[in-house]
Amino acid sequence: MALIVQKYGGTSVGSAERIKTVAQRVADTHEAGNDVVVVVSAMGQGTDDLIALASDVTPNPYPREMDMLLTAGERISMALCAMAIHDQGVPAMSLTGSQAGILTTSVHGSAEIMDIRAHRVREGLDDGKVVIVAGFQGVDPVAKEITTLGRGGSDATAVALAAALGADVCEIFTDVDGVFTADPRMVDDARKLDEVSYEEMLELAGAGAGVLMARSVEFGRRYKIPIHVRSSFHDGEGTWVKEETMEEAIIRGVAHDSSEAKVTVHGVPDKPGVAADIFEPLAEAGVNVDMIVQNVSIAGVTDISFTVPKASIDRARQIAERLASEIGAVGVDIDTNIAKVSLVGAGMKSELGIASQMFRVLSDRQINIEMISTSPIRISCVVRGTDVEAAVRSLHDGFQPPSSPEEE
Ligand code: ASP
Ligand code: MG
Repeated sequence: MALIVQKYGGTSVGSAERIKTVAQRVADTHEAGNDVVVVVSAMGQGTDDLIALASDVTPNPYPREMDMLLTAGERISMALCAMAIHDQGVPAMSLTGSQAGILTTSVHGSAEIMDIRAHRVREGLDDGKVVIVAGFQGVDPVAKEITTLGRGGSDATAVALAAALGADVCEIFTDVDGVFTADPRMVDDARKLDEVSYEEMLELAGAGAGVLMARSVEFGRRYKIPIHVRSSFHDGEGTWVKEETMEEAIIRGVAHDSSEAKVTVHGVPDKPGVAADIFEPLAEAGVNVDMIVQNVSIAGVTDISFTVPKASIDRARQIAERLASEIGAVGVDIDTNIAKVSLVGAGMKSELGIASQMFRVLSDRQINIEMISTSPIRISCVVRGTDVEAAVRSLHDGFQPPSSPEEE
């Protein structure tokens, strides 16, 4: 008998039929003698629909009300799931994030979980119930305001709850079979990975692999919760995200991200304090800067380029333009036609020459590299947005991430 947290994403609860399928699986898991906590996302594209509705009402939705609106999506799923599980003859109870004791910071739209006071969840389990918790939301205990955790936040709810409850496993049910060596919609021979380390998964998620929210992997790593990413459409094994993998891969996978844009500040005076002047106000405005490149300076001036989420591009442009005039820079350029491709693998730490091989593969395809960044287990290149498919395919071909034994 185990304590299992199961998270079902939007597609998995996308219709009444799908919800009944989820209920069946939950009931089976419960009847096998396990305690089950279920975390649900909003049905289908429910969150996108609510965002669109809000923007039809106003171009600048008030953040507090936006969270009141968006949390409704998960409440619909949780109540319907509870009803469907009841129908299977299993007692079930749904709880909102705040009822489940998910305490967060106060930032509407991107709050972070600080603590989970899960006594109502535990009481439910002690009463023999399946407890269904609305994903992606919590409450700021100081202001007593409802918050959301950022897009994809139900993953964070699930893994954080698993940690708080001391669960044996957190299962993430989704519409794909697991974590792949590359996006299977782009690369025909992309393969499902049997396992991936927390460290690698964090890098893959940060590099654009959409299957798990990066923050959820951080919880998994911190509290050593094994995460099993698997399909809600069949019973097959998915991908295990855990501390140690059986085989250390040089390249575990290729990730890509087309959601960022590049900002270049031209003709920046090259003197101490200028970078801080640019990036402090961006950080204060909550703009998440990813890659940064500063060119060599010629005649005391230089160019600084950085990438930000396309969703923050208007804010980033305003700030960059204001600063450019304050610090005496020449001007600001925005480029939205970029993409980032990344190679990730823990074995890179002990292998020389991966970066140069990556650059050669891209150059063989006449793909120009515009920016480069690295971590000990990741190399990322910014390329033209229109080159992203060719880049991902040629890197996947060129590096053959492991998975089938003959390649090891
Ligand atoms: N429904 C939210 C979203 O679409 C949270 C989630 O799905 O995890 O971002
Ligand atoms: Mg979702």
